[in-house]
Amino acid sequence: MKSVYFKTFGCRTNQFDTQVMMSKLKDFELSMSEDDADMIVVNSCTVTNGADSSVRAYINGINRKNPKANVVLAGCGSHSKGESLFEDKKVFGVMGHSEKENINTILQKRTPFYEIGDLEHIDSTIVEEFVGKSRAFIKIQEGCDFACSYCIIPSVRGRARSHKEEDILTQIEKLATNGFGEFILTGTNVGSYGQDQNSSMAKLLKRLSQVRGVRRIRIGSLEPIQIDDEFKELLNEPWMARHLHIALQHTSDKMLALMNRRNDFKSDIKLLEALASHGYALGTDFIVGHPGEDESSWKEGIERVKALPLTHIHAFSYSKRDGTASASMKEIVKGNIAKERHRELTQVINDKNLMFRKEHKHNLEVLLEKGRAGIYQGYDQYFNKVEMQSSEDLSGNWVFVENATVQGDKNVAIYQ
Ligand code: SF4
Repeated sequence: MKSVYFKTFGCRTNQFDTQVMMSKLKDFELSMSEDDADMIVVNSCTVTNGADSSVRAYINGINRKNPKANVVLAGCGSHSKGESLFEDKKVFGVMGHSEKENINTILQKRTPFYEIGDLEHIDSTIVEEFVGKSRAFIKIQEGCDFACSYCIIPSVRGRARSHKEEDILTQIEKLATNGFGEFILTGTNVGSYGQDQNSSMAKLLKRLSQVRGVRRIRIGSLEPIQIDDEFKELLNEPWMARHLHIALQHTSDKMLALMNRRNDFKSDIKLLEALASHGYALGTDFIVGHPGEDESSWKEGIERVKALPLTHIHAFSYSKRDGTASASMKEIVKGNIAKERHRELTQVINDKNLMFRKEHKHNLEVLLEKGRAGIYQGYDQYFNKVEMQSSEDLSGNWVFVENATVQGDKNVAIYQ
């Protein structure tokens, strides 16, 4: 039996995709070593020029280290770089996103292949990833209809399409019966769920919440314009995690326009204040150093960040991606300046997070995920980290904390 080694680059979605491919392999064995596997499937990422270089360097390295192995390029990079790598004979085969579930047949090919497929397909397998014994990520959709200037994703993952409500429900029912209580809904543009199915995120949430055993639901990320009235009606439901991640990307309207975003600051602040008034902790994505971010746009941006009720942040330093609109923009921000802005932004949000935790240290519902030597870690309803001391094995347990001690980057409690 031939052996296959999987090398995964990039985001959680790619990791899910690797799981789909692994689950479909019937006539091969999985190899744990790239040095002696017969085939190496590179599930690639192409989000920035740097990501492309890493994939290319890996393939060159493998061709030297294990020249007898057939290298197969899969993932987002197959749609952007697959053709050139195939023509240069750097890879034996290329398989696009839609071909993942056919991997068992495709890998049997004895001659070089280029199976790029299409970008409309959605896998029949709904993938889940477990964190400990009680938290599971569920991928509910694929693709994105937005066209943010800096992003290559829509051209390599296709337009937004959703898994069927019934399929997601079946999966969650199964997991809930097996003791999973918290579910995190993920995808490329999660908040677009349902638009192709005559459904919506709110409708899906309502159905999921009725599954016996479902205790808390989180949503990976939402775009501001995706939070509609139907969604807002759910804000006080007990099963909604009291944390939402709203992808703003910037707070200067000039930058939002350059980024071709669909949000603007005036409506963003209104929305975030409304959500915060329901007791929500709020996170966001923010890109610093995008072309055009001159000193005055940055100053305006950071002052506006200070005014927002944010508690968590994923701060990114802009990284060029050829083939995107941003890549041809001229007003480049120097790396050291972007680094400094990144630091300043992170500090502002860390301070806000500390303040929020001081005000929200009572009545925390914590799902403890992992631990050893009597120290367990998990997250509360606000997505803040809680560390708990206990002599009992608490992994996978829900624990109620009446009063936590707030420390620098986490809350601490003793289990009694
Ligand atoms: S919303 Fe924008 S950044 Fe996110 S995947 Fe779509 S195009 Fe890319």
